[in-house]
Order: sequence, then C-alpha cells, then structure tokens
Amino acid sequence: MGEPISVGSFQGMKSLNKSAILNVVRQHGLISRAEIAKLTKLTPPTVTNLVGELIDTKLVVETDLGESTGGRKPIMLRINSSAFHVVGVYAGPKKVKAVAATLDGNVITQVEARYVENPTCEQFLATLADVIEKVIERANPKMESILGIGVGMHGLVDSEQGVSIFAPHLNFRNIAIKAYLEHKFDLPVEVENDIRAQAIGESWFGQGKCVPNFILFRVGTGVGAGIILDHQLYRGTSFTAGEIGHTIIDINGPKCSCGNYGCLESMVGGTALAVRAQQAIRFGKKSILEDMVKGNIELIDGKMLYLAAQQEDQVAIDVLEDTGRYLGIGIANLINTLNPSLIILSGGVFGSADFIMDSLRKTVERRALAKPAHAVSIVISELGENAIAIGALTLVLKKIFTSTGLTDALFETINE
Ligand SMILES: [Zn+2]
Repeated sequence: MGEPISVGSFQGMKSLNKSAILNVVRQHGLISRAEIAKLTKLTPPTVTNLVGELIDTKLVVETDLGESTGGRKPIMLRINSSAFHVVGVYAGPKKVKAVAATLDGNVITQVEARYVENPTCEQFLATLADVIEKVIERANPKMESILGIGVGMHGLVDSEQGVSIFAPHLNFRNIAIKAYLEHKFDLPVEVENDIRAQAIGESWFGQGKCVPNFILFRVGTGVGAGIILDHQLYRGTSFTAGEIGHTIIDINGPKCSCGNYGCLESMVGGTALAVRAQQAIRFGKKSILEDMVKGNIELIDGKMLYLAAQQEDQVAIDVLEDTGRYLGIGIANLINTLNPSLIILSGGVFGSADFIMDSLRKTVERRALAKPAHAVSIVISELGENAIAIGALTLVLKKIFTSTGLTDALFETINE
C-alpha cells in the first residue's frame, strides 16, 4: 500500500501525525485543538504547529466557536471538504464511469463511456484516461483541487502495484493502470478490484460505517464479495479473497465462465436468470415474457423478469425466487465461514428484491448455523448506481486520512 513511511525519519513522523490529526478532525466533524491533543496524545504545541501546516494547505479550516466549558470558547476546526476533489472510476466489463466528489464523498459530476468493440489494452486505457480528463475538466479544469484518482477495476487486481492481473470479460492480462494514469495525470492513483473498492466505500459512506466485520455481496455480470474483517479489507494471499461467485452451489449445475460447473455465478450472475426463463418457456410453460419480446425469447433480460413478476407471471416469479434460494445458499456459506454482523447486498438483480429477498432470507435461516445466522443483518446497499466509483474514490481518501497512508507527495501536490 503506497510507499511505507519510515517512522524513524522526522519527515515521516510529521506526516503520520498530520494524518492522525486529519483523521480525528474528519471523524469528529468539528473539534478543537485541545481535544485533538487529548485524542492523539500529541503535545499541544505539536498540535498547534501541525494544525497550522494543515490550515496552510487549506485542507483544514477554522470555524464557528465551540461550547465553552467555563473559559474562553475554543476555536473549532473542520475539514475543508468542498475545497478539494477526488476522482473515482469504475472500469467495468463494458463501460467506464468516472465521478468527481468533494472530500466528504459528495459526487458533484460524472462522465460515462463505452469501450469500443473488443478493445485493445491501449484503447481500454485511452477510454479510461478520456473519461477522467472529462470529469476533471468539469470539476476543476486547472486541477489544483484534485488530490488523486481511485480506480475500481473488474477482475483480478494487484492493488499494491496497481496492476490489473486478469480482466476476464475483456481478456486482458497485466495492465499497469496505476503507472499509466500517474504518468498521464501526475496525480497519486490507487487501483483496487471493483467489488473490494465498493466494500471500502461502504465502510466509509454506506451501511458498513463503523461496522468491524461485514461483507459486501455484489451480483452483476460477475458475483463477488468484499470482505471487511476488523475494519480492514481482507485481500488474501494473491488478491482473490471474496471470489464467492466461484464456490459451487450445485455440482450438476450449468457451466461457469471459469470452466467449472454449478458455480454460484453460473446460477445467479449475468444472463443466468434469462436462460432459466427461456428454458421454462421452451419446456412449454406459459409466460407473458414471450409477448414482451414478441416471441424472440433470446431477448429476455433481468428488467423484463421484474416487470413480468409484478404482473404475477409465474415463470418470472419462479426464476426470481430460485435466484433468492441460490443466493441464500451462497450467503449461508459466507455466514458460516466468516460470522459477520452485516451483509450488504448490491447489484442490478436486487432491483427485483421484492421477489428475491423472501426466499433468500428463508434459505439463510434454514441453511446457516443458528448462532451466526442470528448475529447477522442482511441489507441492500444504499450507495446507489455510483457505488463502485464512490468506493474507488474512497481509496484516495483513505490515503489522505489514515495514519499509515499519507505520503509527502500528496502534500507536495497541494502545496504546489
Ligand atoms: Zn465459476
């Protein structure tokens, strides 16, 4: 994770202490210098000195007077959130979306683009750079306020090197995204797997805030989980932790993109739902889905299933309820393995939550062990359609605000 700060060096210590102060200010919203000294255990003169430096960078500002405990009312400090921006990018299997947000995660503008058909690595990177350039242009053309870029990339990602190791849907290997974008924009860049980036976003801005052990469970084209243990993202030995989509739910199930049979992803991800509806219709079941696609059942998609289910179409209802059961089995496995207190569900399929959640919850109740099942809440993400991009920009915020993350380079960016 970035350059390690040498604790022995004075400069390094100063950065660590500055980050600690920044984080305390962020967490409290409004705080006095005296309270900062108490919480960080730094001496009051050190706090005054470092707060002065932070005020010079405009990251921290003095604001309304706080409550007095008898004497003079103390001057309060807060993060100058709206003076700076971070960029978050979701590089998905088909398109890329970039957002710019203030330091409190408030998205102010966004740009989206599709890749060209079967893009080369160069074309992929060019599309990435193009949307980032456009979103920066809209947020702050002179770039003074932009502190960094975070990328949530689908597929397998080495987040230490910022390299996409394998992107299955585009069939790319070893793309040095961080190096390319840092060179192009001269800004710090963080790269993480898309779902894991969202998990970090959930831990800062979503329902996972202040929850030590939770799992983000995302169902889209792919199916995966971002695992937060003791407030930290768990990546595993080779960055593959959370690949719940390739755990096997039915040994006789359909073939999966990974080559195996009956993986969770092959039963609930991407086109699996439409394929089950098509099969039911081919077996002779009546469904309004057929009318919706004028007989061309290859065109059935997830949204149609939801609309048909709303009109009490039994084929659509069965497909969605079965999806809830399969998801329930996958989630029960996660609950039994990791004993989280919260599971956050996300992704397009939960647009049909009305028809999925009942069978999902019942399956979890039946299949998970009683003790961990009682300890867990299952909710649907509230971060909305920008969830992954927000997660990606949180990667940058984490670097700025956590005591092990801040690099001097970032302060140099601000001071320039
Ligand atoms: Zn698989």
